[in-house]
Amino acid sequence: MKDKKSVIGVLDLQGGVHEHLDHLDRLGISYRRVKEKEDFEDLAGLIIPGGESSCLCRLLNIFEIKEVLLANYNRGLKIWGTCAGTILLAKSVVGEENCLGLIDIEVERNSFGSQLDSFISEALIKEVDPEPIPLTFIRAPKIIKVGKKINVLLKIDDYIAAAESENILVTVFHPELTGSLAFHRYFAIKCGIKFEVKKNGYTDPAWENYSWTRMARIA
Ligand code: GLN
Repeated sequence: MKDKKSVIGVLDLQGGVHEHLDHLDRLGISYRRVKEKEDFEDLAGLIIPGGESSCLCRLLNIFEIKEVLLANYNRGLKIWGTCAGTILLAKSVVGEENCLGLIDIEVERNSFGSQLDSFISEALIKEVDPEPIPLTFIRAPKIIKVGKKINVLLKIDDYIAAAESENILVTVFHPELTGSLAFHRYFAIKCGIKFEVKKNGYTDPAWENYSWTRMARIA
């Protein structure tokens, strides 16, 4: 019989939903779009994708799922926020009210500049993958402070780019827009999901999806 809590949900209100589903699928992890209260049933984990945090926060209220999300978190649901998802989960947001306030970090929105200041780089994050992981920053926030109990996974220059508490993972970059499945695998393990280990590692060099850079290239 299938383990009940083996499904990872992706919050499907706005933003980069499909790309996360695609990565989960490639790892062979069961997934579900999460739009309504009922969609939270028996989830092992929830990904809050990148998008626009102010918009996502309003939609959480409009779709009446903020309370059910918080209730599920209190019952042990693991949550991963990418970019805007990190902003939603932060306890403190510079100059603004927080949204969910579930992880003891302070973030500054749009900290690298405009959409045209988006960039790619790579970093070695030993806890997550033995190989360097490609990183995609799109109008990203910076994590500028973390509480004592937060584990910093990646610090670059004056900011933190990835961190975690016991039940929450945050990345200001977008692993779902790269060929690397390493963070999806890392989150799945955090959720207690067991799945087949792929022999050839977690980065597919042939995988390409740079559609988000099209405007920057034209400019
Ligand atoms: N700049 C967006 C915000 O502040 C986040 C961008 C993203 O998720 N790629 O919400």
